[in-house]
Amino acid sequence: MAKILINKKNLFYNFELISKKATNKEKVAVVLKDNAYGHGLVEIAKLANEFGIKKAVVRTIEDAKKIEDYFPYILVLADTTFHNYSHTFHIAINSLEDINKVPQNANVHLKIDTGMHRNGISINDIEMAFLGLLKQKANITGVFTHHRGADTLSTDFFWQNENFAKAKTKVKEVCEKLSLPLPQFHSCNSAALFRQENFTEDFARVGIATYGYLDNDGVFDFPKLKPVMSLWAQKLATRKIRKGQSIGYGGKFTANEDMIISTYDIGYGDGFLRLNENDNYTTPKGFKILGRVSMDNLSINSDEKEVCIFDDVTTLAKIHKTITYEITCSLKESMKKEILV
Ligand SMILES: *Cc1c(COP(=O)(O)O)cnc(C)c1O
Repeated sequence: MAKILINKKNLFYNFELISKKATNKEKVAVVLKDNAYGHGLVEIAKLANEFGIKKAVVRTIEDAKKIEDYFPYILVLADTTFHNYSHTFHIAINSLEDINKVPQNANVHLKIDTGMHRNGISINDIEMAFLGLLKQKANITGVFTHHRGADTLSTDFFWQNENFAKAKTKVKEVCEKLSLPLPQFHSCNSAALFRQENFTEDFARVGIATYGYLDNDGVFDFPKLKPVMSLWAQKLATRKIRKGQSIGYGGKFTANEDMIISTYDIGYGDGFLRLNENDNYTTPKGFKILGRVSMDNLSINSDEKEVCIFDDVTTLAKIHKTITYEITCSLKESMKKEILV
């Protein structure tokens, strides 16, 4: 069976660098949404806990429940039901309409729209939101925002930082007026954290850097991280093909000499995005994927029992004209995970 191998040493190496940048482990919230970017929600949660990470970020309450034992603090980004509440969960409020749904005593993080215009309330509505949340008897434990372009060289990043600074000032004013404790402030994803000179917020929400990537314009002095995931496939069948014979759907790879080829048990059905005859992909050991990738298998000029399909998805992301996030996230949750210690 094909499997995902999780390299614990590389994960811990990334956590070390991230913690140092955030000043310490306590200020790192590991982002585990979407099955930990395809790496396995529970697998990465356990390892993050072993490293000493105290905070996690997930998409839904359902996911938060799966990792409840590993973190004393879990931020839920995008649940719309607000039930099944636990005191270690902190639920993001993405709109003013959300406020009426908040159950008593729920911990909430108020999201501020500082320019991405996706989720969050405007800076002008902060006081209204606070009053609404107090009426619901919610605990406002955090105020946060998200960057639309921390990975690109433009003024957006600074503009949003300025807007969030304004939001912080407003929140402080409102808290003073209403005699409320100050919430925790956070705005950084991976790229934003690594763009800070001095990180001073309460914590950073770190996703892609955890997994070993820092996709960006290439203009920043970002450290080299280590990819955590590698993908391995098992041989299903080996055959000898003659010069002139073609392989797979469409017969799009034709051998120009006699060769040994094998089929391996991974395909786009497993979430390994389809490559076709126009793509030129070489595995880490120098084997070629030949012709088109099928739903459940692909052909390689190898007869090894097991091959590493990738140990770094940067090239695949380029071939598929996408970002590393999408390559790892696409892998199906059902894929077997193994931890390499
Ligand atoms: C996904 C996400 C993150 C993590 O972003 P990375 O670029 O992977 O570090 C942080 N915050 C929010 C709100 C997110 O949705």
